[in-house]
Amino acid sequence: MNNPLLSTAALPAFASIKPEHIAPAIEQLLSESRAALALATSDATTADYDALSASLGVATERFGASWGAVSHLNAVANTPELREAYNAALPAVTEFFTELGADEALYAKYKAIAAAPGAASLSAPRQQALKLWLRDFVLSGAELQGEAKARFAAIQERSAELGQQFSEHVLDATDGYAYYASTEEMAGVPADAISAALEAAKAEGKEGHKLTLHFPCYLPVMQYASKRDLRARLYRAYVTRASELGDKPELDNSAIIEELLRLRHEEAALLGFANFAEAAMVAKMADSPTQVLDFLRDLSSRARPFAEKDLAELREFAAKELDLSDLQPWDTAYASEKLKEARYAFSDQEVRQYFTVPRVLAGLFDIIERLFNVKISEQPAEVWHESVKFYQLVRDGALVGQFYLDLYARNGKRPGAWMDEVRSRWARPDGAQQTPVAQLVCNFSSPTADKPALLSHDDVTTLFHEFGHGLHHLLTQVDELGVSGISGVEWDAVELPSQFMENFCWEWEVIQKLTSHVDTDEALPRELFDKMTAAKNFQSGLQTLRQIEFSVFDMRLHAETGSEAAVQALLDQVRAEVAVMAAPAFNRSQHSFSHIFAGGYSAGYYSYKWAELLSADAWSAFEVEGVFNAACGQRYLQNVLEVGGSRPAMESFKAFRGREPNIDALLRHQGMA
Ligand SMILES: [Zn+2]
Repeated sequence: MNNPLLSTAALPAFASIKPEHIAPAIEQLLSESRAALALATSDATTADYDALSASLGVATERFGASWGAVSHLNAVANTPELREAYNAALPAVTEFFTELGADEALYAKYKAIAAAPGAASLSAPRQQALKLWLRDFVLSGAELQGEAKARFAAIQERSAELGQQFSEHVLDATDGYAYYASTEEMAGVPADAISAALEAAKAEGKEGHKLTLHFPCYLPVMQYASKRDLRARLYRAYVTRASELGDKPELDNSAIIEELLRLRHEEAALLGFANFAEAAMVAKMADSPTQVLDFLRDLSSRARPFAEKDLAELREFAAKELDLSDLQPWDTAYASEKLKEARYAFSDQEVRQYFTVPRVLAGLFDIIERLFNVKISEQPAEVWHESVKFYQLVRDGALVGQFYLDLYARNGKRPGAWMDEVRSRWARPDGAQQTPVAQLVCNFSSPTADKPALLSHDDVTTLFHEFGHGLHHLLTQVDELGVSGISGVEWDAVELPSQFMENFCWEWEVIQKLTSHVDTDEALPRELFDKMTAAKNFQSGLQTLRQIEFSVFDMRLHAETGSEAAVQALLDQVRAEVAVMAAPAFNRSQHSFSHIFAGGYSAGYYSYKWAELLSADAWSAFEVEGVFNAACGQRYLQNVLEVGGSRPAMESFKAFRGREPNIDALLRHQGMA
């Protein structure tokens, strides 16, 4: 069998990969990687950085890239057959990487390299990569012996399974729900959402409008449906997904949450940490859980008066104008949208007409080209869905990187937006220069037969955000695998480049380039932009507290041993402390909190706020010097993007900004100064 997963081509053959390729490919790549590990750790291989890269580095990079292609397809083109093959292979893959990360002989080899006389003359990126490898070895249990070591490995494997089950449950609960609404029930919902729901019902031979919990369907209903019962019905279905209150008991994530937390605390204890959060801090820019909680509580107390004012205004408006005297959580998006319309006299729907996907992409590419001195062009490549596009970045005639762009929501595709690595920049041991390749995935509404896809301003911001991650990965000039691009960057600093990019979406100069009305071709009028800007910080107090609620919940859940026994009680406590509006007793948002239970953000959700502080402060340099200031762009490129994880994020920030970060720009940008 000609197996595309064993191809050595630079790009994965996405369209050719079939579920039946997975088992044989993984088996072969596993055995090759095992052989490479045996060779690398044998006496025949000297304790030398290059020697290790040439044997083990090459084999595991190939294995990782192949498995990455499988994981990617599992996330964006899920089928029952693919899922089965993926799940069948997952334990062995996890087991290998767990063992690799805790292999005593390999650990000894790395220690020997670090202790050798030549270590001091290794390049700075190599020294940093080595330091991170040694750190990760310790965190992966390399110092553990006997029973503790075996238990640690078992915990890793089980946790990976549980994380996978958690996200499958969320996906299935999201995909599995449908409500067929009558024409009367759809009152207030925008025309494009209505016709999409009609088409979806028709495709199944059903009457009415098919409403689902996918965001492009769920959100417009919550924002615009004037029928309160319909909003309440969808809200309840949404916030009980994958919980004991959902309609499918087999998708309940309760037991998974408990077991995951118990395992995480046990894992931390094995490593000698007081709790999981302490262990998680080792690879962070922040120093300790206490420092993080202090930061969150400081921000919370500054935001609280603004949030209270936001809520009081909303309640007053809802009672007076919408006849909603007892504002409920399923009313807030609806009432907020109406208040925003009343106050700023524009709707998201109106704004969407100006942001067509072709225009937004052209504008975004122009910014990247001007600031970072590259040229972007579309190229042919094998993809997994007809709507996916592929691009390359070139500088002075040389290839810098390439990326796939998968913009639209569909069944079998995980919700949300993300950037993922396909290949990383690497000066390969055979002398070849590997350039980075990225995945950029969103879940926007598709184009229709006669109109291009339209984006809300939020969608545009999301797109810029993911491109921020993409540029961090693609523009790196570091040649060492462990520290090129986003590799090796502290978790809580990873969102700096992504949130930084969001700022462009609020600049008039930029907006003019990003917009062209779908029917009239006119750019967004200045008057509408001024209203959007005035509305930008609409309810920023409430939004800040919402993020702080998630962040404090996540941090306390992982910093307090025994938390698995009382997850709901802890969440209730956090809500009582942070939120200004009570959540209904049936709200089980933790059951679909994939970030912390299936996404690597455990004891790290605060990173969004932390990095917002960094990115707001970085952006303030562009505010002073000019949005398209090439010199400022170059300084940002060289000091932040290009260096990747080759030095601590704090050093990179200081190199760019000339000082330590402070909170002023964040508060000012959000109207809370
Ligand atoms: Zn992000």
